[in-house]
Amino acid sequence: MERYAIGIDLGGTSVKYAVVASSGEMPFSGQLPAFAQESAEAVLGQVLKGVEACREYAVSEGLTLAGVGVGTPGVVSADGRTVLGGAENIAGWENIPLAGRVEEAEGLKTLAGNDANMMALGETLFGAAKGATDVVFVTVGTGIGCGVLIDGRLYRGYRNRGMEMGHITVKCDGEACACGGVGCLEHYASTSALVRRFCALSGSDGGAECDVDGKDVVFFYKEGNPAAVQAMEEHWNYLAHGIASMINLFAPQRVVVGGGISEAGDFYLEKLREGVRRQMMSVCGGDTELVAATLGNRAGCMGAAGLVLDKMR
Ligand SMILES: [Zn+2]
Repeated sequence: MERYAIGIDLGGTSVKYAVVASSGEMPFSGQLPAFAQESAEAVLGQVLKGVEACREYAVSEGLTLAGVGVGTPGVVSADGRTVLGGAENIAGWENIPLAGRVEEAEGLKTLAGNDANMMALGETLFGAAKGATDVVFVTVGTGIGCGVLIDGRLYRGYRNRGMEMGHITVKCDGEACACGGVGCLEHYASTSALVRRFCALSGSDGGAECDVDGKDVVFFYKEGNPAAVQAMEEHWNYLAHGIASMINLFAPQRVVVGGGISEAGDFYLEKLREGVRRQMMSVCGGDTELVAATLGNRAGCMGAAGLVLDKMR
């Protein structure tokens, strides 16, 4: 029988909300501004509004809800109830009893999880890694996020603090990263890094005359622009080294690559596969498939709902 849950995907700019069925259907969805620069209370208010909109829809359709899953930036306590901190893009988002606040207001059982983990779970339950038990999910955007499933369960490290793939080292004498380390994958292979590198190579310092985004760099690459070609080659090389390291560690069945740039086209994944094959140990990655994410920006809501639906399996 079909079961339903509410999935919330909280980010630095928006709160996405959806009613998700255990089959992977998403009969209702929408989004609100997150008010992330205002205050934690303002953000909580928007989360509750999203939950409320979903609850009203479920009532009007006669659907029974299993509960609410919330994906949030930062570190969530191991019991899935409290945001401990580490979400730089939301003001005051520390020690927030997120699950408790939603339960009090809406009377629905609630669980929270890290946003990249929720995307990984979404792609595993409903998307590009459906049917796989051992999965590495990588999302490439302004930063690099990651989620790992081992034997069908999210692996998060002791007290949920691990899996920061964006901060594995790809250059041990490299540049400083925002995390305090040097030479991190995120600093060299994120979309922001790609843009920064393109601007430097094309003789601009990243000022007003270099107002481009990742899509633009991909466009220039296809046109054969030398700076874009070099920036993309470097991007693939660094990202491939990061992914190959994850393959050597986890030997996943599937590596799923998400984020806007993964939708650039087949050539993007093919170049990445070539680089990964050169660097990985074939004994570890011989059975690993590298594929593009399929859920796009629905992955977060679907995984968050899946956190509730999956617990009941
Ligand atoms: Zn770092």
